[in-house]
Amino acid sequence: MAMAQARTASALLRRYLSASPATRARGLASLSADRTRNSRKEDGLSGWRAGAALAAVTSLLLPAVSFSEELQRMSVQQSAETIETSKDVSRSLSADTIEDLLAELRAACDEDRVVVDVDEREAHAKSWNTYHSVVAIPDIVVHPKSQEEVVAIVKACAKYKVPVTPFAGATSLEGHTLTLEKGVSINMNSMKKVKELHLDDMDVIVEPGIGWIELNEYLKPHGLFFPLDPGPGATIGGMCATRCSGSMAVRYGTMRDNVISLKAVVANGDLVKTAARARKSAAGYDLTRLLIGSEGTLGVITEVTLRLQKIPEAAVVAMCNFKSVGDAASVAIATMHSGIQVSRVELLDEVMMKAINLANDKNYPEEVTLMFELIGTEAYTQEQTLRVKKIVEEHNGSDFVFADTPAEKEELWKIRKEAFWSTAVLRPGAEAMVTDVCVPLSRLAECISNSKTRLLASSLPNTLLAHAGDGNFHAIILFDPTNKEEVEEALELSNGMVHDSLSMEGTCTGEHGIGVGKMKYMEKELGAEAMSMMGSIKRALDPSNLMNPGKIIPDKFCQ
Ligand SMILES: Cc1cc2nc3c(=O)[nH]c(=O)nc-3n(C[C@H](O)[C@H](O)[C@H](O)COP(=O)(O)OP(=O)(O)OC[C@H]3O[C@@H](n4cnc5c(N)ncnc54)[C@H](O)[C@@H]3O)c2cc1C
Repeated sequence: MAMAQARTASALLRRYLSASPATRARGLASLSADRTRNSRKEDGLSGWRAGAALAAVTSLLLPAVSFSEELQRMSVQQSAETIETSKDVSRSLSADTIEDLLAELRAACDEDRVVVDVDEREAHAKSWNTYHSVVAIPDIVVHPKSQEEVVAIVKACAKYKVPVTPFAGATSLEGHTLTLEKGVSINMNSMKKVKELHLDDMDVIVEPGIGWIELNEYLKPHGLFFPLDPGPGATIGGMCATRCSGSMAVRYGTMRDNVISLKAVVANGDLVKTAARARKSAAGYDLTRLLIGSEGTLGVITEVTLRLQKIPEAAVVAMCNFKSVGDAASVAIATMHSGIQVSRVELLDEVMMKAINLANDKNYPEEVTLMFELIGTEAYTQEQTLRVKKIVEEHNGSDFVFADTPAEKEELWKIRKEAFWSTAVLRPGAEAMVTDVCVPLSRLAECISNSKTRLLASSLPNTLLAHAGDGNFHAIILFDPTNKEEVEEALELSNGMVHDSLSMEGTCTGEHGIGVGKMKYMEKELGAEAMSMMGSIKRALDPSNLMNPGKIIPDKFCQ
């Protein structure tokens, strides 16, 4: 077992190191996605476990850590117990129906893009990074290349009443892409063209399968960028569907604020355009925002018009340390109150810093850390940085340091972005549960301190990190999915954090979305009336419940 895992880990490292810089920049998620089509059986690891394996390999470089011990602790559980999502509500399709549907799909797309191979179907049965286990395997996987093909696919599925689940970067964390009722998984990754770039208007029209990292590589020579940065490997379509945000939401807002318009194929096969390309519009119901955050339950997004930003003239990245997460959160709050225009305020606890050091061979202080970014002109950023430094000193912060070179700054944000996977070094082979609460800013210090107390008392290794300027934070809890007590402990920790957040007028998800994991909190957070309204919208637009069924809205509000 240990030897097989060693081979697995070194094969992964070889693949990672031999990948192109662009692929490496997209992180392990992209390797996982590549494996979807090519060689999933080769290593048999999920994206999370690939991260765990790579982190273990990286730790080989460090004298303090015994690699063979780490490998022995890697208990890769390929058939993890299904947690929470054990309902099997698969609609059984007759062999004839599947044959008829296949014939129509093959007429719509090239034959080799309509796949029934079992490996590929299994690879589309869940996201790579979620702890939620596979419930059912889709009957067919389709890889459309155009909007017209998506229309034909959805129309064929509507005709035979077959469920449709979009699948893109597979970085979502709450079981969003589980094909609970089998059917067709639509892999959007072949639709990644930039259709139109309007420099004068500072907007771009893209297909949904393009990743945010790829898009930013394309935009850079034009002096522009798109400011949302969720998991490396995430696509614009998936980002719309989850209403994601990331580290720069504190300055630029979430996906809700950065999409001008989109096109989507709804359940009956109609292609709907939600808005004009103008920056503002008051023309009727806001269909753009109805689809943003709909997680594939209302339609398949096929085109997105995005608002772009100028790459700032100057950026300062500063780091400082604190004795407690509460102190660090208080500084984040004070900074926001001061009116300083930060573009990022990220909080990482001391355990997260230790994991980052181990996984990246770094030597950062293993203390609660705040990372700031300030952008603008050279003079402005320098002046604002001094103001931040003063606030930090007033709140017992220490070791205020700057990242100097562009390469150093880029590396810091990359390390921060991959912190989720770095956590794996603390217990290679374990599963990871990621929590995601968000409270009004004034409650952040209290809420995050409560969570830290719970996490410190837990027997499970865990890390804590926050988009502190937004009041949004995550714990990453490592557990053995085959150990009932550990599963219960992880769920209890997550549950406690959500209930704390709800009691402070917060939400069960600041940015990751609902999927299957957060459905149980929806009524408590929003009330039965709001849930009934969501159910009415879902029934009106998707009366046969074909679009990503079983997500967001609990069954009782869908009937
Ligand atoms: C290391 C890491 C860091 C992360 N950091 C952040 C963060 O900082 N902020 C944040 O918000 N999230 C973060 N995430 C979560 C994740 O990256 C986001 O939820 C992301 O938006 C998902 O995009 P995706 O392309 O991977 O979508 P997928 O996981 O493929 O799909 C997500 C959902 O969108 C639907 N969908 C996908 N494409 C379409 C489409 N074209 N039309 C309709 N529905 C569609 C799917 O059916 C599914 O319901 C992180 C994840 C990881 C692994």
